[in-house]
Amino acid sequence: MRDHGKITFFDLRDRSGIIQVVAANLKKKPRLHTPVKVVGIVKERPVKLVNTKIITGKIEFELKKLTVLNQSQTLPFPIDNNGYNIDEALKLKYRYLDLRRRRLLDNLTRRSQMVDLLRRFLIKRDFLEVETPILTKSTPEGARDFLVPSRLQPGYFYALPQSPQQYKQLLMVAGVERYFQFARCLRDEDPRADRGFEFTQLDIEISFTSQEEIMNLIESMLVKMADQMKVKLTSRQFPVFSYQEAMNKFGADKFDLRKDKNSQELAFAWVIKFPLFEKTDDGGWTFTHNPFSSPYPEFESDLLQGKNINKIVAMQYDLVCNGYEVGGGSIRAHKPEVLEAVLKIMGYSSKQIKAKFGHMLEALAFGAPPHGGIALGIERLIAIIQGESSIKEVMAFPMTASGTTSVMDAPSQVTKKQLKELKLAIQKQPKS
Ligand code: ASP
Repeated sequence: MRDHGKITFFDLRDRSGIIQVVAANLKKKPRLHTPVKVVGIVKERPVKLVNTKIITGKIEFELKKLTVLNQSQTLPFPIDNNGYNIDEALKLKYRYLDLRRRRLLDNLTRRSQMVDLLRRFLIKRDFLEVETPILTKSTPEGARDFLVPSRLQPGYFYALPQSPQQYKQLLMVAGVERYFQFARCLRDEDPRADRGFEFTQLDIEISFTSQEEIMNLIESMLVKMADQMKVKLTSRQFPVFSYQEAMNKFGADKFDLRKDKNSQELAFAWVIKFPLFEKTDDGGWTFTHNPFSSPYPEFESDLLQGKNINKIVAMQYDLVCNGYEVGGGSIRAHKPEVLEAVLKIMGYSSKQIKAKFGHMLEALAFGAPPHGGIALGIERLIAIIQGESSIKEVMAFPMTASGTTSVMDAPSQVTKKQLKELKLAIQKQPKS
């Protein structure tokens, strides 16, 4: 607000931006950040007063009537800058105010735009969008599970999904053929800038497919999305490296192919031919990416016999962009004996296999079609596109670095009554 005595200028803001309001003889000046109803006339500005720096700089709003709809306290921090330097705890406590800032509104807008484009692309190609459960059974993606106690079956727990991996494969057994979902995934890992407890994947699965078909599909989808969002691509054909080549050339399986590392373009590349297994610390074997991945056909007999385990190559493909892993997927083991062989090599007993994966082996035995899929990290993709180094900047309500939620203070204690209903006892009361 700028007060020139008889004339007052102020900026009227909504989601789309700002417009300058000109008010004559304003009796009561509204405070900053108050919601108002205005009646007046949109006019061209006198030539001398045109502001070329803003989109609405050629017009202004001549105020006739002003109604204040609510009052606002002084905000705890300014919202007319980029906000990077504000203390995280304060920023996330008042995340709804932080989100008023242009940069964050733009990030949410562009994210919504991207999701819309990806969804349209897939629907147009005959994919079915299907939701899968959030209260479910543990599915291994290499992270710790979040557990939810069951009230009706005390002592038993649901796990929140680390990904919809098993359900999407079951949808292939069901004959859905082409599935996608913007799926929330929950992994209890130490939160970092490029990782939180919760994230969203564009999750895809296809029946009767091949590695090439999936890679081509994703490539056309992302090229089209980049064009529509006016983002430059380093290469419209994504280069492909084997895991070995990538390790030899870049010393890592994620790398940045941009010539100028500060440029805003996207440099996608594929990494393929990952080993299916790696050694665990105690001398056993575990999966490198996904226990449901299939080996290349030439390794199937070794796998079934548990031979040359370190040499078995998986039909696994990762997508990297500007130094980050933005996606990964595989052609799956669609025959029960192949999945069972993988689980055996990982050291599961027959009893454990039955308890943990019996439902999958059973489902695959009902004529599961060959299938494969992929998942893309939505936050990581849009963060790269928006030039943000933390995925928190593209989430509406991210967590703090110590794993508490923004605005609402979770995790928090529950009442004795709730614990009793769940038949749970806390061994040591946490300090409140
Ligand atoms: N479930 C895998 C993941 O979350 C993706 C996939 O293989 O489709 O990384």
